[in-house]
Amino acid sequence: MTRLPEFLQARLAERRAQQLYRSHKTLAAAPGPVALVDGRELVAFSSNDYLGLAAHPEVIAAQQRGAALGAGATASHLVNGHFAIHQQLQDKIAEVTGREAALLFGSGYMANVGVINALVGRGDTVVQDKLNHASLIDGGRLSGAQYLRFIHNDLDALEVQLRRAREKGTGNILLAVDGVYSMDGDTAPLAQMATLCARYDAWLMVDEAHGFGAMGSDLFPHAGSVAAAGLDQDSAPIVMGTLGKAAGNAGAFVAGSKALIDYLTQFARTYIYTTGMPPAIAAGCVRALELMQELPLQQTLVARIAYFRQRAAVLGLPLEASASAIQPLVLGCEKTVLRVSEALQASGYLVGAIRPPTVPAGTARLRITLSALHSEEQIDGLLNALNSALQREKNAAGEAS
Ligand SMILES: *Cc1c(COP(=O)(O)O)cnc(C)c1O
Repeated sequence: MTRLPEFLQARLAERRAQQLYRSHKTLAAAPGPVALVDGRELVAFSSNDYLGLAAHPEVIAAQQRGAALGAGATASHLVNGHFAIHQQLQDKIAEVTGREAALLFGSGYMANVGVINALVGRGDTVVQDKLNHASLIDGGRLSGAQYLRFIHNDLDALEVQLRRAREKGTGNILLAVDGVYSMDGDTAPLAQMATLCARYDAWLMVDEAHGFGAMGSDLFPHAGSVAAAGLDQDSAPIVMGTLGKAAGNAGAFVAGSKALIDYLTQFARTYIYTTGMPPAIAAGCVRALELMQELPLQQTLVARIAYFRQRAAVLGLPLEASASAIQPLVLGCEKTVLRVSEALQASGYLVGAIRPPTVPAGTARLRITLSALHSEEQIDGLLNALNSALQREKNAAGEAS
């Protein structure tokens, strides 16, 4: 038995000793991409606002017009919290993703927990990549279904688990993966995964938190990694996407067949038992999705990613195999990551220092994210500062040994 104050202090002290203690940085406003942090201007390479829509004046104006419909939705969607603007957004999401219908959720975390728990339970199996986002993992654990994991992006290891689940019994199998991995930036081999799902009668669920808006196909340029992999509604039946990343607002959606959306409306507890999305957010999202289609933001993002990778390669920086807006630099040691990120901040750049338990032990990293708002000069500036900081680390390590 421990008194609460002592329990809290002991756990916090442990976190600090492990170099894993986290604290907030307080920004004055959304980075556009410059952010005011404690009175200092920093160029942010840490936000998920890949298309620059969070700070877009037309999105903000749309939110303000939406606020005239009410500051809040006043009830859950199934009571009286579902407005015409919500329906308009769902229709827009269905159009952009090339799916029959869509359903709104309060956040991506809630969407993942709600969808998994609506679809599988005791007697079923949920199969997940080891590097899946925490919300998919938590959703799987909560569901009561057998929980099987496989080595990141390893199709043989995945097949072993699917076979194991199928041989075990008659329960349903849900395969849930990130389309784009949030801390690594690489994409899942979705086409092969869809083939395996067909072979083992498993249902494929793809989390498009970092794919939606940022990538797609010729026909559906903003539909995410499922579209980029050539998968339609039959081969990728359950698509979850967030509205707080490339869409610049907040909230999330699931897109799929009319039957899937009807089912989730009846059975997804995180949809049913929570207040509807504020109308201002829904209105902001509608405008954001229109702007995605109207402006060449995605082309600019793709050009910035290519520029970053080309310049980083010239400097000999250790890049990961990522074609997405997420470009991590894995340094391994928590202390090094903290020192380098502090050095970058001193040079005017804000970069995420990502440590366990967000990533596996020994893989602490800088998570650099690119946006259509970044200029080539800003990217050059970041890379030069990064190169100097890493050089200093190398020299210090040389002196120490
Ligand atoms: C951010 C994120 C989520 C959660 O979305 P929120 O809307 O922020 O709750 C889910 N999955 C992945 C892969 C994410 O990166």
